Amino acid sequence: MLPVKTSQIIHIQPEAAAKPERGAPCNGCGICCLSEPCPLGMLLSHRRVGACAAVRWDGTMNQYRCGAMMDGMAVSRQALPSGLRWLAPAMALLLSRLARRWIAAGQGCDSDLEVQKPGQPSI
Ligand code: SF4
Ligand code: SF4
Repeated sequence: MLPVKTSQIIHIQPEAAAKPERGAPCNGCGICCLSEPCPLGMLLSHRRVGACAAVRWDGTMNQYRCGAMMDGMAVSRQALPSGLRWLAPAMALLLSRLARRWIAAGQGCDSDLEVQKPGQPSI
């Protein structure tokens, strides 16, 4: 069977770095989290497709960051139903631990997505 190639349009900050090759150090380009949520992001976003609700743009570093690690309280409040928002501090603590394990923080890029900028010919 031939591999299926699909395409998807994502909106990304123009200052974001180009995506590195799979296995190279992560540079926070954001392509992975803006294209689909990881398992933790699916829980936080309440969806399986599209940009993760927890991804955050850091304009100082010009990098995308995981909000589960960097902005746990706000991400928890966003993910919880209004009647359960009092659980946000405990959830933020849990997120900071889970995120480090699930995202393999500090490791190489694990995405093999190919990026095509607007106006670029198809690969
Ligand atoms: S893991 Fe790869 S695609 Fe995701 S932000 Fe890091 S460099 Fe970009
Ligand atoms: S790494 Fe963080 S921002 Fe990226 S998809 Fe997972 S939960 Fe969302």
